[in-house]
Amino acid sequence: MDPISGSAAPRRIHLAALPYPGRGHINALMNLCKLLSLRNPNILISFIVTDEWLTFLAADPKPQNIRFATFPNVIPSELRRANDFTGFLRSIHTHMEAPVETLLHRLDPPPTAILADAFVTWAVQLGKRLSVPVASLWPMSATVFSILYHFDLLKENGHFPADLSERGEEIVDYFPGVSKICLADLPSFFSGDGLQNVESAVNSARSVDKSQFFISTSVYELESSVIDALKAKFPFPVYTIGPSTPYFELECSAPNGGTDDYFRWLDSQAEGSVLYISQGSYLSVSSAQMDEIVAGVESSGVRFLWVVRGDDGRLKDVDRETGMVVEWCDQLKVLCHRSVGGFWTHGGWNSTLEGVFAGVPMLAWPIFWDQFPNSKKIAEDWKVGVRLKAVGGKDLVRRVEIAEFVKRFMNSESDEGRELRNRVSEFQEICRRAVAKGGSSDSNIDAFLTHISGEL
Ligand code: UDP
Ligand code: UDP
Repeated sequence: MDPISGSAAPRRIHLAALPYPGRGHINALMNLCKLLSLRNPNILISFIVTDEWLTFLAADPKPQNIRFATFPNVIPSELRRANDFTGFLRSIHTHMEAPVETLLHRLDPPPTAILADAFVTWAVQLGKRLSVPVASLWPMSATVFSILYHFDLLKENGHFPADLSERGEEIVDYFPGVSKICLADLPSFFSGDGLQNVESAVNSARSVDKSQFFISTSVYELESSVIDALKAKFPFPVYTIGPSTPYFELECSAPNGGTDDYFRWLDSQAEGSVLYISQGSYLSVSSAQMDEIVAGVESSGVRFLWVVRGDDGRLKDVDRETGMVVEWCDQLKVLCHRSVGGFWTHGGWNSTLEGVFAGVPMLAWPIFWDQFPNSKKIAEDWKVGVRLKAVGGKDLVRRVEIAEFVKRFMNSESDEGRELRNRVSEFQEICRRAVAKGGSSDSNIDAFLTHISGEL
């Protein structure tokens, strides 16, 4: 498929962008759409969301050539999806396809390609019916993709199902390109919500088989052996375009991130002194553990900026000498602020890449799903951070231990602290090079655009 030759006027690329309805996923796809539209202002992108999601997104700034196209609220409300996550997933697989297909038929001009989150598994069939190519976007690490895609290997090796309390330390080394990993560090699909929904995740990874492009939000240099294995396997292009974070909207070298109150507070703190804490929102630690975390962090003497969803009474009386509590912040800009010297993270994939991109060492405390392999990557493979919780540990981590750990982690003067900071700077450089002119992600975005034009 050659790119359009210069003689005839090229048809306009019109991508139908189809996200899985969840914030992390929507943001990753929107960031890619913004990147594509910056690169080729002539492109048209229809970003497909429910009427409800439009109300959440309408105020976000976006380029003119990205427009929203909506379908009715046929899935449970975003505000209630955590109450019945399995039911939510089922409705995505069964209720969304028909209204989205109707919508795509009505788009004018008709879409020339579909750019779909791989978790919308039916997108590949839809593309086939519409005779347009489908690019599958994988919004987690390539490592997690490989594990899910090759899930049968776990069964064949007697590793699934397994009781992690007895077998968590057993090592797995047969996923193509994935470094050695113990069972407890795999995504949490051995019990609970994870076990209930693993089949759906495996199907999402396998749906990629029928797509025409695989797009990963990772950075090639960060997961090169897994990506090489995927390139060798798939007959279609595999493009890494990460980090999937809006770095192109950022002046990272600027000391001040913005005008909000928390940026003013950060401005008044010493360089590298603040621990930024964001534990994710979908699932959280137990109430007893949260008591220990709050007491431990407060008694460490380290100043913090803490994102707390809802009204956690434990932190309501924090004074500005101790730290600052916010319900939401502009995370990437916060991480890039010169006062921030550490990032306590649940290890979500976007947060992991943002921490690396900003060059901030991470203290990972994973709670659910891919946060376990991401945290292992942070602490053991990349060595750009540490893990507080022992692998598979079920016991409460006490406040005294947390306070000591936080103090040590934030100490940039010790040999250990210096080594960690040097290491994360090296990884930051890798990310910067990937998105700079001619870097791996930069070139892949161009290659994808050229390729998709050739499909017209
Ligand atoms: N977010 C936001 N405003 C808020 C709260 C959250 O824009 O008041 C966004 C934020 O930008 C981030 C996302 O919500 O992208 C994270 O939310 P969550 O952890 O719930 O994402 P999920 O796990 O559902 O993908
Ligand atoms: N985030 C943010 N402000 C907040 C909390 C989170 O902007 O106060 C963003 C964060 O930058 C990241 C996203 O929310 O891009 C969370 O995605 P991640 O993959 O880390 O977590 P998950 O969606 O898996 O919970």
